[in-house]
Amino acid sequence: MLEDKNKERTSLETLGEFGLIEHLTQHFTTKQPTTIKGIGDDAAVLDFKKKKTVLSTDLLVEGVHFDLSYMPLKHLGYKAVMVNLSDIYAMNAMATQITVSIAVSNRFPLEALEELYAGIQLACTTYGVDMIGGDTTSSKTGMLISVTALGEASEENLAYRSGAKENDLLVVTGDLGGAYMGLQVLEREKEVFKVNPNNQPDLEPYAYIVERQLKPEARKDIVELLAKLKVKPTSMIDISDGLSSEILHLCKNSEVGCALYENKIPLDPTVISTCEEFKMDGTMIALSGGEDYELLFTIDQADFPKIKGNPNLTVIGHMTDKSQGANLVTRAETLIPLKAQGWNSFQTE
Ligand code: ADP
Ligand code: MG
Repeated sequence: MLEDKNKERTSLETLGEFGLIEHLTQHFTTKQPTTIKGIGDDAAVLDFKKKKTVLSTDLLVEGVHFDLSYMPLKHLGYKAVMVNLSDIYAMNAMATQITVSIAVSNRFPLEALEELYAGIQLACTTYGVDMIGGDTTSSKTGMLISVTALGEASEENLAYRSGAKENDLLVVTGDLGGAYMGLQVLEREKEVFKVNPNNQPDLEPYAYIVERQLKPEARKDIVELLAKLKVKPTSMIDISDGLSSEILHLCKNSEVGCALYENKIPLDPTVISTCEEFKMDGTMIALSGGEDYELLFTIDQADFPKIKGNPNLTVIGHMTDKSQGANLVTRAETLIPLKAQGWNSFQTE
């Protein structure tokens, strides 16, 4: 939130477009065997041999998807990559390459873009993906970032949203609601800061959820874990908009219903305590808060012994006949139909 007045500011105009691209991408190297040619020609060249190629794109717009007043640019670069890798892992595939396209105004100095690319590079090295190209253009006002991720999987391993069967178990990774509650804390501190800029926020008690918002991790480890356990999900999706809307996607695409048990939804203690502080309901936040980037999948009941007791995986329900609908089974054992109250970018308030 505090701007460092002593930081150097090199205007983008001093480099020109080609100089800028070269400067930002100079430290990136490619390691994937499927990358034949990365940055530096008119197009990248890839060779996936006998594997299926998986591809996903996201567009992030300043003021809609991110707020630079509390989002450091390095984190933004990292998160922009995570959002996309998460989609690749949600197909039960391994991410291999990304492209990154940006539109920036001259309000951003070179140093700001260096930060952005440092985050992108950290994501690439941590997750073992190659950056193989992109595009750079100017914007009159805000910043735009579009990332495209590519991945590979053998045909039999691909997990679609459409494969869930009646009686399959519904499984979620990690815990839910953290990213949304982290955002609530950051928004509150932003308001406090507006009133009193000398007020340094103490975010320490909220470290876990603030990190869930600012530095999410895509669940590559789960794709590896499932392969090791020899569990092939019958369907899978990543949780970007909230549990409720993702469950409804699985139900709709698989033509099944679902019973989700409220008392099984995994919540971190920090989420529970912050919900109390904000007078919010933890279940509601898990159902409707977005950006957790966990994986939600279904497995055949016969595979239950393979995942039982794994601390990364929680069985939260099971799939039912379509006619029964998708329901939350509350702690009081009443049924409430699930609604898609997830974050929707076209929603008018
Ligand atoms: P073209 O004029 O054909 O669009 P560019 O000059 O935009 O070519 O790009 C030259 C090379 O740099 C290409 O390999 C392209 O993919 C890469 N590139 C351009 N912008 C970016 C960026 N923001 N991040 C990463 N690579 C980029
Ligand atoms: Mg170009």
